[in-house]
Amino acid sequence: MSTQAKKNHLLVLGSGTSTGIPMINCLCKVCTSRNKKDKRLRTSLFIASNNGVKFLIDTTTDLRYQAIKYKLDRIDSVFITHSHADHIHGIDDLRQFCYTQEKNKIPIYTSQNTAEDIKNRFPYIFQTEKIFSSLRPIVGGGIPNLSLNNIEASQQNLSSKTIAGNRFKFCLLPHAYTESLAIIHSKFAYLPDCSDIHPQIIKKLKAMQLDLVIIDCLQVRPHKTHLNVDKCFAFIKAIAPAQARLIHMNHEVDHQYLEKVSKKTFNFSVSPTFDGEKLTYR
Ligand SMILES: [Zn+2]
Ligand SMILES: [Zn+2]
Repeated sequence: MSTQAKKNHLLVLGSGTSTGIPMINCLCKVCTSRNKKDKRLRTSLFIASNNGVKFLIDTTTDLRYQAIKYKLDRIDSVFITHSHADHIHGIDDLRQFCYTQEKNKIPIYTSQNTAEDIKNRFPYIFQTEKIFSSLRPIVGGGIPNLSLNNIEASQQNLSSKTIAGNRFKFCLLPHAYTESLAIIHSKFAYLPDCSDIHPQIIKKLKAMQLDLVIIDCLQVRPHKTHLNVDKCFAFIKAIAPAQARLIHMNHEVDHQYLEKVSKKTFNFSVSPTFDGEKLTYR
């Protein structure tokens, strides 16, 4: 087997903040930009692991369009990073995968708090016994066939779990009134929506000598619930991966500008992600 065949493959399904870019009714420079890389669907990743397992990270409001645009043919497992609308409100579009693939029950993996939120937000999927009965049977279009699985995680330590023969590590990142699940798969770390990362986690990520980090980078100005460019860059420097990509950008940052600033700051490959970007890691 060649070394290429042993790599894990990652596809960026969306690189934008909760509004998507362009934003509805906005005529700013980025929202009207002709650069394709400034068109950002809601943040989501797709991983095809080197042992043939297909993982989706987050079921965004754009999931249907992302699945069609990038011809996703199968989803074996789904991770949900947190319960903000832009990361979960496309969950119903998993239905089509449940209907068409051989393994028609799709497991969802998330933190305990997010699992609780999702259960309450979508009772017709996760509390069917409460919603449906012999007097009120499921009729019509049907519901996605999903199972909810809790992942133990904390802000200071990394936990581990093997899913479909793939070794993952997890921790939680502070994000507004909630926490996001950071996902580490082999030599890749995904650090989604967050306002901070615990120093102990940074130390551990550095020691892992990662191939790739994808990290929250909302805008230039400081923000209460997200990393801005300065904070994001400081974490990238501290983790020192072989390469890093930025994600969840809003309309304050145009792709070209952020690319230029990244290049000037780092002597290794750092740049903003764009929709459809393909990356690999060991
Ligand atoms: Zn705009
Ligand atoms: Zn969020």
